[in-house]
Amino acid sequence: MSDCLFCKIIAGEIPSTKVYEDQDVVAFLDISPVNKGHTLVVPKSHAENFLVVSEDVSAKAFGAAQKVAKAVLAATGAHGFNLHVNNGHVSGQVVDHLHIHIIPRFEGDGLEHWPKMTYGSGEMWEVGEKIKKSINQRNDMPRDATL
Ligand code: 5GP
Ligand code: ZN
Repeated sequence: MSDCLFCKIIAGEIPSTKVYEDQDVVAFLDISPVNKGHTLVVPKSHAENFLVVSEDVSAKAFGAAQKVAKAVLAATGAHGFNLHVNNGHVSGQVVDHLHIHIIPRFEGDGLEHWPKMTYGSGEMWEVGEKIKKSINQRNDMPRDATL
């Protein structure tokens, strides 16, 4: 994709601090990290998000992410990490080329977890039923990148 920022980084047209590369995947440091060492793992082939990426490419990206996460932990001394994928602009996705965030976490780093809500009476069951039905009738599942 000629106008995709991450395709340009992968092609070397825009510089990045690359920490990993194989035939299918690259990983480079996020330019505005949540914590230092925040790394993005990116399949080389352009796919907008997790819904449209092939299972093969997805598996390769997550396989690489496991390798990179171990290295990020060792290099930063982090005590844990968040593995995070935004899908769709409402979720916070800004770059429309699938990428896996590896965010190193430290004791007392001050980052808050997402706020949580509660279900109304019977609501959890209803939502579960809808999702199950949707899985059983794959026609209801989103098929394209329109989120
Ligand atoms: P998203 O919000 O789409 O899941 O994440 C996109 C990430 O890309 C953001 O965390 C942002 O800081 C990072 N980013 C945006 N532009 C650049 C860039 O030019 N170089 C690098 N290395 N990271 C970038
Ligand atoms: Zn791209």
